Amino acid sequence: MWFTDRFAGAAVAFTDATEGNLAAHTGADPAQVAAHRRALEVGLGLAAGSLRYMHQVHGTDVVTFASNGSASRSTPLEAPVADAAISEDGTPLVVLTADCLPVIFVAERPGADTPLLAVAHAGRRGLLDGVLQNTVGALRERGATTLTGWIGPAICGACYEVPEDMRAESARMLPGIDTETSWHSPGLDLPGTARRVLEGLRVRVADPGSARSDWCTLEHTQLYSYRRDKTTSRHAGIVWVPPAFEPAGKDTP
Ligand SMILES: [Zn+2]
Repeated sequence: MWFTDRFAGAAVAFTDATEGNLAAHTGADPAQVAAHRRALEVGLGLAAGSLRYMHQVHGTDVVTFASNGSASRSTPLEAPVADAAISEDGTPLVVLTADCLPVIFVAERPGADTPLLAVAHAGRRGLLDGVLQNTVGALRERGATTLTGWIGPAICGACYEVPEDMRAESARMLPGIDTETSWHSPGLDLPGTARRVLEGLRVRVADPGSARSDWCTLEHTQLYSYRRDKTTSRHAGIVWVPPAFEPAGKDTP
């Protein structure tokens, strides 16, 4: 596990290669992916089949998940097409990435027992097209007052090389996203840009401490990187509301 946190009654986690590939892409062994997903649920203390996945397409649509009876209920085989998801009842949400940028949200609402949860898949396309704005807007529509965001592992601005025309076009849409790689070629800064976008939306960005500068997927073999490995493997950002704490020995006679 790369990182875990607790906040406002919610739990936040980012997996790494230790938990294995969690994406059911073409080319992945379905039995192995299913085994990794089950093991992850066991490790987090979640019921089998409770993690909700999206079919991510670099878009900006936001889907809502609930533990039962929801119009957008899904199974791993019928994940809805979306790049952001919200849960109002603590249903565990997953976003899968390898270089693209995962964002987890925990949103407090006055008078509610559980916080609102959200995940977003923000690669270059999603960042430029407004997936973070859509997610924050959907949370506020549902009564969110105070929003906190976690920016997960992603390729850093010193490693994400793009063609010059792509850098120029991206900078026209989102000034400041353009950067230069450590080898002096055109680059884009996804994590830095995501932070500026979130702060502009009045989202508090949680600071995981001094390790944050070291969360580049390309530079860490413990993380999956499409650029480095041309892999279909993906790690996960996860947010959920854990069951209430029960003291050990509760059932002891
Ligand atoms: Zn890097």
